[in-house]
Amino acid sequence: MSKKIYVAYTGGTIGMRPSESGYVPGDNLMGLLEEKLPPDVMASLPEFELYEYPQLIDSSNIRPDNWKQIASDIASRYEQFDGFVVLHGTDTMAYSCSMISFMLQNLQKPVIFTGSQIPLCEARTDGLENLVGALTMAADDRIKEVCLYFNGRLLRGNRSRKLNAYLFDAFDSPNYPWLGRADIHVELNETLLWQPKGKEKFQLECDSETHVGILQLFPGINAQWMESALSQPMDAFILRTYGTGNGPDADHALLDTFAKATAEGKLIVNLTQCHRGTVHQGSYAAGSALAKAGIVGGLDTTTEAMFCKLHHLYSLGLSTEEVKAMLSVNLSGEVSV
Ligand code: ASP
Repeated sequence: MSKKIYVAYTGGTIGMRPSESGYVPGDNLMGLLEEKLPPDVMASLPEFELYEYPQLIDSSNIRPDNWKQIASDIASRYEQFDGFVVLHGTDTMAYSCSMISFMLQNLQKPVIFTGSQIPLCEARTDGLENLVGALTMAADDRIKEVCLYFNGRLLRGNRSRKLNAYLFDAFDSPNYPWLGRADIHVELNETLLWQPKGKEKFQLECDSETHVGILQLFPGINAQWMESALSQPMDAFILRTYGTGNGPDADHALLDTFAKATAEGKLIVNLTQCHRGTVHQGSYAAGSALAKAGIVGGLDTTTEAMFCKLHHLYSLGLSTEEVKAMLSVNLSGEVSV
């Protein structure tokens, strides 16, 4: 039986048009597609229905309310469609894929995010290939998770990162192999695909308030700077450290600042600034010192996925101790445990 795909167009370069201040989101994407694709080519694609969001955004403007909208949109059409494509700006696509993967755990159907580096209205657009590839993946019922499809690569959404602002190869998943490829043949690496563990209803909760902040170590960072950052009214902070999770253990005032914040109930999660790898706070004394200050290792989760996982768990009303316990629980394929 032929598959029916729901396409949610949220904005992003793929549908943008030039303006005096640069590209801006553009409407009537379906009209643009009809101009680009002859009817017989259109007819050869998996059948799809495109819904254009009333407020199309450059994804640099993404906020938790947009995640609520995308997740509820998919949830409300879940029974009517076989697969879902989300057209989204590339800048924050890795965050949105991650967030939707937590809000729609136990998915039994594919949800494929894509976009483009050059708009569909331009001659050299990569948008057509990305859209057609995403539709193809969304029609494949072996996929039961949120993925990101871009330039021939199928990546797990909550493992993906935007790593290149200029190449068509904009995305990769540094800590997890690609799930598939679309070359002459479309191939999936079935052993790597996520198998949903439960059948519970989706958890669509996503607070509009900000629960999580992201901090980064840099040479010369001091206690005063860190104290002011940690005084922000957040439940949790991601601390982007060096290498396997190391920080300046010679700076006792800085370590005391971390210890004070964690003793006051703030969660500080250690993730590496490195492009690839996992945090082992015990590998060096410089990492153990952070653990002694109450900082918890976030293993190989990406910053984007950790931000969304924490935001999601706090939105569900979990306490800091409960959230801490979930860091090493693999909810949707985001962490190697
Ligand atoms: N600024 C654009 C956005 O994220 C970039 C893109 O879509 O590639 O919406």
